[in-house]
Amino acid sequence: MVPRSLLNLNTFRVDHSCRSISYTNSSNDLVDLAKTINKPIIVGGGSNILFVDDVDRDVIVINHEGIEVIKTTNKYVYIRVQAGTNWHQLVLWAIENDLGGIENLSLIPGKCGAAPMQNIGAYGVELKNVFVELECVKIGTGERWVLHKEDCLFGYRESIFKGELKDKVIIDNITLKLTTNSNHTLNRDYGIINDKLDDLKVKKPTIKDISDVIIDIRKSKLPDPKEYPNAGSFFKNPIISTVKLKSLKSTYKYIPSYVIDNDSVKVPAGWLIDKAGWKGKQINGVGTYKHQALVIVNHSARSGKEILEFSKLIQDDVLEKYGIKIEREVNVY
Ligand code: FAD
Ligand code: NAP
Repeated sequence: MVPRSLLNLNTFRVDHSCRSISYTNSSNDLVDLAKTINKPIIVGGGSNILFVDDVDRDVIVINHEGIEVIKTTNKYVYIRVQAGTNWHQLVLWAIENDLGGIENLSLIPGKCGAAPMQNIGAYGVELKNVFVELECVKIGTGERWVLHKEDCLFGYRESIFKGELKDKVIIDNITLKLTTNSNHTLNRDYGIINDKLDDLKVKKPTIKDISDVIIDIRKSKLPDPKEYPNAGSFFKNPIISTVKLKSLKSTYKYIPSYVIDNDSVKVPAGWLIDKAGWKGKQINGVGTYKHQALVIVNHSARSGKEILEFSKLIQDDVLEKYGIKIEREVNVY
């Protein structure tokens, strides 16, 4: 078997190889491949994956697309979306149809089948806010299986698919519940959205206005993987105790934090990394993005190993400086 290049299947643009690449064009293809391929690696858009070496495994790329309205009530529209549908295209479809719920998740790269993996989130909204259920297929048997929202154990950038079901199932389609315009409450809690709407003098924003503002903010802040190969936030924001925050404040007076509950807060990992001196720093062709230290950019590294090594230097330094262990968000193979 001739090894196949993974270069176009990961937004870090590392050129490792795998044994073979198969593509799904339908849900039936997915079942067939799940039955016949042993221990496959599943790839959607490759925007949350780091290959650190050549992999002696077969890759299945999820390509089957489609958006179907399955139920409508006065308030809600239920849609079933095939796993290979581009996430942002789905957001645009919702906006065109005047449906609310995912406008804050505009411009997140990747495909819909990967969205439950880390319960994608941005600007105060997470997938779980609109999620109903998904259908997946068991690797090995090809058996179909429906998991409801509570079965998916969604957490902050977490789900059962990153834990107990890792490498055991392939997500075939997801069902979401969107809200009709007149019944939808826009989520503007994330401060910068309101600031931007004020700048634009938008008094009564629409679903589309929120999406447009977020697209604008994201384009100005985040590196386009085509220009700066990256996989978004490399680490999750750590959740620490309020006691720990108090002790850190004696040294870092201006450390930002967001309340999770009475005893814990979320601290932006990007701030910790930036203040530790890593913003814009480069080693061996790998660096943090100049405007957001949480994003690791592959400038010229040939191997994903160099990216992983760079990330470990950051993790060690953050641990040493603040006593906080930051966890990877990106999926490493
Ligand atoms: P991949 O990278 O292809 O896969 C990710 C993981 O999911 C892998 O482990 C893969 O095996 C598994 N997987 C993929 N599809 C399936 C399937 N059908 N069944 C089973 N397993 C599957 N994420 C956020 O949450 N919020 C953001 O705001 C955000 N912004 C980003 C900005 C940039 C510039 C970039 C590059 C990334 C960003 N991300 C963000 C991360 C990423 O876009 C999301 O996690 C996205 O959902 C990944 O989709 P993908 O199709 O590219 O997944
Ligand atoms: P930002 O606005 O500079 O804020 C930095 C961090 O502070 C964010 O990560 C966010 O946590 C937290 N934060 C800010 N305001 C908050 C609020 N009102 N309530 C709760 N938490 C708040 O962040 P950014 O880097 O430009 O990203 C903007 C949004 O896009 C964030 O939601 C971020 O998660 C998302 N994003 C995600 C990725 C990814 O790959 N996962 C990549 C780019 C952007 P949260 O991350 O928990 O929201």
